[in-house]
Amino acid sequence: MKNDIQPEFNQATVTCNCGNTFTVGSTKSEIHVEICSKCHPFYTGQQKATAARGRIDKFNKKYGMNNQ
Ligand SMILES: [Zn+2]
Repeated sequence: MKNDIQPEFNQATVTCNCGNTFTVGSTKSEIHVEICSKCHPFYTGQQKATAARGRIDKFNKKYGMNNQ
């Protein structure tokens, strides 16, 4: 049993590329991640798809692309 040396367990601040921050239990004090639950491709993909559909609808209406 190695009980003499225990890593210091802190609350690490995780900073994501999207700007979201949250804390996790970690031996590190700061963690940088490229992706988190708020900007996971599954969610952003849905949001982008929705936004893209909105833009396409506007584009189609503006240029009369729906009148076929
Ligand atoms: Zn993120």
